[in-house]
Formats: sequence, C-alpha cells, structure tokens
Amino acid sequence: MSKKILFAASEVYPFTKTGGLADVAYSLPRALKDNYDIEVITPLYRSIPREEYGIVSLGDPFTLTMGDDDYTVEMYGCTYEGITYRFVYSPILCEREFLYGTPQEGYEDNALRFGLFSYTITALLRGENYDIVHLNDWQCALVALLVHDDLEITTKTLYTIHNLAYQGVFEPTVLKELGISESYFTHESLEFYGKVNFMKAGITYANSITTVSPTYAKEILTSEFGCGLEGFLQCHRHKLTGILNGLDASLVAPYSNSKAKKPSKTSLLKQLGLKGVTKPLFVFIGRFVSQKGVDLLIETLPKIAAMNCNIALLGEGEEQYYEKLSEMIKLHPNIRLTPSYDETLAHQMYAAADFLLMPSLFEPCGLNQMIAFVYGTIPIVHRVGGLVDTVKRFETYDSESSDGYGVVFFTPTPRSLLLAVRKSVELYGDKKLFESISNHNMQCDFSWDQSSKLYATLYDSLLIGETIV
Ligand code: ADP
Repeated sequence: MSKKILFAASEVYPFTKTGGLADVAYSLPRALKDNYDIEVITPLYRSIPREEYGIVSLGDPFTLTMGDDDYTVEMYGCTYEGITYRFVYSPILCEREFLYGTPQEGYEDNALRFGLFSYTITALLRGENYDIVHLNDWQCALVALLVHDDLEITTKTLYTIHNLAYQGVFEPTVLKELGISESYFTHESLEFYGKVNFMKAGITYANSITTVSPTYAKEILTSEFGCGLEGFLQCHRHKLTGILNGLDASLVAPYSNSKAKKPSKTSLLKQLGLKGVTKPLFVFIGRFVSQKGVDLLIETLPKIAAMNCNIALLGEGEEQYYEKLSEMIKLHPNIRLTPSYDETLAHQMYAAADFLLMPSLFEPCGLNQMIAFVYGTIPIVHRVGGLVDTVKRFETYDSESSDGYGVVFFTPTPRSLLLAVRKSVELYGDKKLFESISNHNMQCDFSWDQSSKLYATLYDSLLIGETIV
C-alpha cells in the first residue's frame, strides 16, 4: 500500500497564489501522486470560489484551544484533477482581503492565524495515520514542533524552505497566546534576537529540511544570504538538501518552435499600444520587492529604454516601486507598466517577449526563468541561487547539452545589468544564434521528473528512519 503524505502549504494554485509556493504546492503533489497517497492541506481563504471547485464541508465544526482561547474550525474538501485537497476554515485565518497582509505590512495576528492552521494540521495528524507531513515555509513550520511534542503522533516531518527572507517573526507574547511552553524560548529552539521565529521550529524539529535549489542550499549557510539564520542552519546542515523546483507542463502552453513567437509578440504589442515588432521586447514579471532587483531595474530602465527596444513590466508589490515606475513610464513611450497580478497577461508576456529581465538580488529557485525557457524567451539573470542551477551563460552555448542558456551577469549593479542588456541586444541582432538558443531552451526538460524522484528518495529515507533529528 502506498504511503500516506500530507502536503501543507499556505497557498496552492489554482485556489490561491501570490508566488512560486502556490505553483509548487500544485505541481509537486501531482508529480508524486502515482507513488504516494498524497493529500494537500491549505486554508480556505474567502477569495476561493467554493462552488467552482466543488469544495464541501467534511463535517461539523470543532473547537481547538490555543493558550487561553478557543477557536472554531471547520474542515472542507474537494478533489481536483485527481488530488484530494483539504481546506481549513476559521474566520480569523480566512476572512481577510489578502492572504498574509497588505502590501505595506503583514497582519498583526499572523502568528495566531497560522498558529491555528498549524494546530489544525497537527490535530489531523493525530486523528489519521499519515506517514509523512511535508511542511512548507513559516506558515506551517510550527507543526514540526507540535508533532515533536506529541508522543501519540508517529508521522515523520519534512520542512521545505521556499524563501528564507520570510521567517514568521513575532513578539515573544505570542507563545502564551499559542499555548506553547516558554521552555521553547531558547536560542536552540524558537528564540531569535528576542523574538519568536516560526521558521526555526521547522528547522529545529523537522526530521529533514529541503530548500528549493542546490545553490540556495549552500548560500543560506552564509551571512550574505542566511538572513540571520546562517549559523543556526549550519548546526542543522546534516539534514538540509537542495532540490530544484520543477515546472508543471499544464501551467504553461509550450511552443515547439520559436516561429510561434511572432504572432504572440505582434498581438501583445498591439494590446499594450507599443510599436516595432522587429525591436527586442524585454519583459519583467514578478513581485515589486527588493529581492527581485527592482531597484537595479529602476536605475537602469532609462538607459535600457534609450536603446531601440520595447519594455513591458507586470507586477504588484511595494508602493514606492509603483510610484517610481509610474513616473518613469511618463518619460519613456516604449515602456508599459501593468501594476496588477494577472496570470493571463503574464503568459502572454512570456510568450511574446524576446528577453525576460530577472535581476534578482537573491532567488531561492525562481520559476520565471523556467517558464521563459518554455516559450523560447531568453532570460537575463543575476547569477544567484536557483538561477545558477538553471541558466548557463549563452557564451558557452552547446547545442548538444541539456542546459538552458541565458544572459548571465555576476554582480548586482546597474552597470552589470546594463551591460547584460547591451549583450542581449547584440545577441538579438545575431538572428541565427538567437533563434538557435531560443529553440534549444524550449526543448530543455524543466519538468518535475528529476526533482520528484529526489523528493521520493527523501520520503523513503524518512520512512525507514535514515534521517532523524
Ligand atoms: P516568487 O515566489 O519569489 O514570487 P517565483 O519565480 O518562484 O517567485 O514564482 C513566481 C510565479 O508567480 C511565477 O509563476 C510568475 O509567473 C508568477 N507571477 C509573479 N508576478 C505575477 C503577476 N504580477 N501576474 C501574474 N503572475 C505573476
């Protein structure tokens, strides 16, 4: 009988999505479902259309106690594309405009909201026999501690860090509200510079830890990328591995040949009111936050715009970036800015573009560059994190290799980005080479085939007790 896995994530495509976690929570369970009996658990945020997905109640509401307070929780469920989804509903967790907070700041009761999510997952583990619970990011990291604390639960825990920059750090008073013993408030456990750090619960108590690319797994052990947890992660490095995220083919509509690009480009330019199908089209798609290199981009954009090209930007995020970008587009008629989250437009842009700008300061894995490859769009990337593992320098292009190629720059400075863009324009001018690389990239395999096997190996080693804290 196949082993039973509970995969927990605070966002899952297509129900909710703010970033790559949602894509992974959609696609990794699908890649593993033939070998494991895998279920996914996530909050039933109010934005999820219950009827559209046939989401129904799984039973009467029940009460969970955290600290001195009782909370009413209801479980819902549905089956979607062959996967069983369980949804946790509680007003405090789900009745919000955003998932985690406004663009300015996280909701102030996030510790309680996701504490309750974690308690509910743990209650489920107590009631049903799951072999492994696969926890993702800080929002469900407490489960590792709660399971460790509960002698009745034999489920093994795997904790995946999708982005170390978001750790779930709260005032120490939340421990009492969550009903977690003060004895956990130590450096070896949850304490982090006088605060409580949820991610530390995952790192400390999970039987095994992964992050989303081999390079990021090394980087987070250094002070440059460790976000203050590098020393702590070093203590737990024996159970840390980096497994590259994959891309689910059903999330993209791959081209078989770069000739398909021209109609997409013509149509997008028309839609955005841009002119010049023969000019290179650069796009940026992503969150407007410092991580994505938006400062670099803003500094460099006027110079890029002065080249004979078109630029389209799509994203949502921090107000300061909207403001600066909005000012900029007034001065440059060849830049378009769409300040929203728009899946359809994102895919039209990947499909139409010649180059994807990805000047990230750090990038745990990054999916955008893989989506770009599928559409024959050449990524321009800063050599960091998952971008190191997925994008090779086009100067080393070898048509026989199975690697994807792009324009790679080594230092996150406006000058380096500008030089990379200049190189891209030159590459674009060499039609033969450009098309050859673009077609080559389209054939590369960025699916979950390889990575899901690595997860399967890890699951199996957990089950035979090879990786124990
Ligand atoms: P992160 O999780 O750090 O935001 P990833 O590269 O892992 O970055 O994943 C980003 C995902 O979100 C990709 O699928 C990308 O296409 C999508 N995305 C980002 N911003 C937008 C947007 N404004 N509209 C539509 N899709 C977006």
